Amino acid sequence: MVVVLEKNVSEQQIESIIKHLEDFGFDVHKSTGIESIVLGAIGVKPDFDIRNVQILEGVREVHRITEPYKLASRTFRKENTVIQIKDVKIGGQEIVVMAGPCSIESESQIFQLAEIVAKSGAKILRGGAFKPRTSPYSFQGLGEEGLKMMRRAADEHNLLVITEVMQIEQIDLIEKYTDIFQIGARNMQNYPLLNEIGKTSKPVMLKRGLAATIEEWMMSAEYILSKGNKEIMLCERGIRTFETYTRNTFDLSAIPVVHKRSHLPVVADPSHATGYRDQVVPMARAAVAAGTDALMVEIHQDPEKALSDGPQALLPEQYITMMSEIKTIAAAIGRSI
Ligand code: PEP
Ligand code: MN
Repeated sequence: MVVVLEKNVSEQQIESIIKHLEDFGFDVHKSTGIESIVLGAIGVKPDFDIRNVQILEGVREVHRITEPYKLASRTFRKENTVIQIKDVKIGGQEIVVMAGPCSIESESQIFQLAEIVAKSGAKILRGGAFKPRTSPYSFQGLGEEGLKMMRRAADEHNLLVITEVMQIEQIDLIEKYTDIFQIGARNMQNYPLLNEIGKTSKPVMLKRGLAATIEEWMMSAEYILSKGNKEIMLCERGIRTFETYTRNTFDLSAIPVVHKRSHLPVVADPSHATGYRDQVVPMARAAVAAGTDALMVEIHQDPEKALSDGPQALLPEQYITMMSEIKTIAAAIGRSI
């Protein structure tokens, strides 16, 4: 940690700041420059709250040098984490596509979509059975019936399953049907849920919170990692900004930022990030070009009748065109789909 002192700091204040830092357990090195005095506080304390130093009299700025997350960081693990589920690898050379409806609605809906998903080269079927809806009056999902339908549809087409778990009590049930747990944006900071998911042995896709910084998102991954589950992928699904022409703002730059800071695979979700189907394909192309390891998109055979997120669902033909376009983009950057 680097502590820059105020220009007019008194000797007494400097002594007191140094004493505080030593009491917190840091080794302190003082450097007197022409412009200002800087204290170097040495000691690895990932959980140290730098505001404890920021509020001291005579302190101008405090900068953290080490990241507060450890197990999720590139410093801790240099090589990329590759998550293997059956014959699918996420985080390797191949970009994996996850596609399906927002919600599982009926047997015929999910079976038809599973066929389209598999034919186009995607490997994972998505679909929600427990839905985090903004309104309590909106469709909340089919629950276990939906999970059963999706598992059968996926097995028929040799696809893996990803589905959202919203609360601790659902973990055991969902674990029976899914290959990957999805933690939704609204639950990114539900620490009790993260702790319990961390004790399971199935991979987890952790979505970025609606207004979460990348650091907060990584700290949530740290919760899961610290409980023992090492198979986490980080999904960028758009963040809340002042913009109103999109549902959320797709933070494309999060893809290279996370790759630099972390060894965990990145998933891009242009469907929730934009909220409108005409924006999904351009952003899917961009995410592949930006280096995402996986892509999640929502599709529907009749989006106008969809029980959730119809406006952002790609029509089957749009989805098929997108798949062929992103294959070309992937090849241009030495990857495949
Ligand atoms: C979803 O994937 O259907 C979903 C609800 O996503 P998010 O948590 O990103 O809003
Ligand atoms: Mn959705």
